[in-house]
Amino acid sequence: MAFEAAWNKRGCRCDESEKRPEGRDTQGLARGYCGLCLICGEPGHTRPHPGAVEFTGSWCDFHYGVLAVTHPLAPVGTFVWLAVIAAVIFTAGQLMR
Ligand SMILES: [Zn+2]
Ligand SMILES: [Zn+2]
Repeated sequence: MAFEAAWNKRGCRCDESEKRPEGRDTQGLARGYCGLCLICGEPGHTRPHPGAVEFTGSWCDFHYGVLAVTHPLAPVGTFVWLAVIAAVIFTAGQLMR
């Protein structure tokens, strides 16, 4: 499928740039990266936001992971926030007694 060829398993545009190595050097990006992290400016990958929002940006692997864990709409983030909320309710319940 043509759509799958353009988006590799990472969900970024590296496949595209690897096929045309000369095409993307204008941005000053290191080989093997397709974007600069929006948070720290390090080379990273352009891919959809891990949350359920219509937003595509560039993040390094570290900040993409952080985003996936901290964003309430991300699959992992939802679980983390539920755990945090449950802990807060549990703690509040203990304090009420
Ligand atoms: Zn970063
Ligand atoms: Zn990439």
